[in-house]
Amino acid sequence: MEENNQLVGKWLEEFDADVFGIGDMSRYDLDLVQLDNSIKKRLPYAISFGLVLSKAVMDTLEDGPTLLYLHHYRQLNYRLDMIAYLLSRKIEKAGFNALPFAASQLVDWKHQKAHISHKKIGVISGIGWIGRNNLLIHNVYGAQVRYNTVLTDMPLIAFNEGHEGSSSFSCGNCLACVGVCPVGAISEDPERFDHIRCFDMLNTFKNKRNLGHHICGLCIKACSGKR
Ligand code: SF4
Ligand code: SF4
Repeated sequence: MEENNQLVGKWLEEFDADVFGIGDMSRYDLDLVQLDNSIKKRLPYAISFGLVLSKAVMDTLEDGPTLLYLHHYRQLNYRLDMIAYLLSRKIEKAGFNALPFAASQLVDWKHQKAHISHKKIGVISGIGWIGRNNLLIHNVYGAQVRYNTVLTDMPLIAFNEGHEGSSSFSCGNCLACVGVCPVGAISEDPERFDHIRCFDMLNTFKNKRNLGHHICGLCIKACSGKR
């Protein structure tokens, strides 16, 4: 199993992933959306991997998403989807099964859900914690990482939650994202994150800036970790 972990790490390095973790799907407490939930048992290992956003692109954000940020967001999603495909093929060629997901694809529009939560997978895979801005926080890159997931039956050793940072809430005294939200959706108490206010703002940005995507980026820019 240790050898398989090393292989996955080597492949992801070849594909230029910046961060990765390995999780045990029995720690994932959500159902898969619009997929047979038995997949969690048949493919019990989760590989979470991410690409770091360009600091210079993030610096272009002033009062909301820019067209350059939109392009960057989409390019990272394409690359993350390609990495998921390439990693799955490597695993299949090694004799196992692997299911690649999409980096950004809603399958339940009403409840704003994808097949799987990359954030939750990141937590169970030891990448980090859910921060005040309701995003997955890496202890080096903050919220400035986009993620994707592959599930597999290739035997792997799951990282401890907290392998890279801490899986439990570790924002500490930082409040850098709280004041930047234009609609005050972020509170000091992470339990009080206001999903509805955030979503309404994303909708406004999407329509007013003709983006075609629900993106904002302001609380991602504010959460730069130790970069
Ligand atoms: S994405 Fe934008 S609107 Fe939503 S919480 Fe972050 S800063 Fe606020
Ligand atoms: S900016 Fe600070 S408070 Fe906000 S999510 Fe990041 S680490 Fe947590």
